[in-house]
Amino acid sequence: MRIFAATSRYVQGPGVLDALGKHSMVLGNKAFIITDADMARLLGDRVLASYQAADMMAMLEVFPGEVTHAAMAQLADKAKAAGSDLIVGLGGGKALDTAKGVALKLEAACVSVPTIASNDGPASGAIAVYDEHHIMQDILHLPRNPELVLVDSQVIANAPVRFLRAGIGDAISKKFEAEACHAAGAMTLLGTPASQIGLMAADACYKIIRQHAVEGLRATEENEVNNALEDLLEAVVLLSTVSFENGGLSLSHALARGFSYLERARGTLHGDHVAYGLVVQLIMEKRSTAFIQELLGFYQQISLPARLHDFGLTNPTADEVRSLAENSMVSPSAARFAPAVDADQLERAICQVEALTI
Ligand SMILES: [Zn+2]
Repeated sequence: MRIFAATSRYVQGPGVLDALGKHSMVLGNKAFIITDADMARLLGDRVLASYQAADMMAMLEVFPGEVTHAAMAQLADKAKAAGSDLIVGLGGGKALDTAKGVALKLEAACVSVPTIASNDGPASGAIAVYDEHHIMQDILHLPRNPELVLVDSQVIANAPVRFLRAGIGDAISKKFEAEACHAAGAMTLLGTPASQIGLMAADACYKIIRQHAVEGLRATEENEVNNALEDLLEAVVLLSTVSFENGGLSLSHALARGFSYLERARGTLHGDHVAYGLVVQLIMEKRSTAFIQELLGFYQQISLPARLHDFGLTNPTADEVRSLAENSMVSPSAARFAPAVDADQLERAICQVEALTI
């Protein structure tokens, strides 16, 4: 059996935020917009005006900041009491995942409006739930992907460049992860084998990043939108998600799970963890030194992290390396690799990455 999962409508471009109401009209009558305090201040009026222009009712709710079961339950009660039938997430990954969680509870339609492009979450049906200490507790799944994903490229270009860089980190691994998942005969998060479209999306995602990342990042540094940034965003926000949902994840994302337990890496971004995880995966794949060095040259060009040092782990201790290896094995993606890996092998691969000269 094969399943293809994706958002049913993806809208991207400078200024499209003002058309959010128009694109939402087919999905519901009353929007409940979940956002953080900063985005409420910066974009709240524009978003509410777009719903007003579309003759839709809408209310804005500032969420507490972490994606917890308690926060989702509380917001679901509020949205239900307000009679909302469309849940909109506006902001970073946490606001978007909280909105997805509320939509799941209410069985309502869901819209993602990312204001940064730091990971593959906005277009995905997956919801990462954390505890108050930012340790991942659960991954929940919407029965369908968010019905609408709307990306205002000017809003993304105005955000700090480190977020888009992390989004590239989260996306650049997808080709290698989908191919590894496929080669291992493992299942995607949909419970089906990697599909042809998943593998092709992952390959395209990688090519677009290699072609447009430098210029796209430069545009973001200047808060400008150009075609390179538009292509890059499509890879980072849309293709990255189509890749992992339909092509599968592997060791790179297993390593990202391990990072969440490293005290000294606290506050560093998921996509950066994945970028590092990809180097570990390539070592496990026994890729040639020349291949890995070429990729690391690209990492250096766009300032992607390639060492634990880059995450604040100056002189990583043996315990930290062991903890990263062991906690990476907690992720189901660690099993989407052939031949099977264990913590000892990962530990050795991490040490090899640390010893690489760029
Ligand atoms: Zn990811």
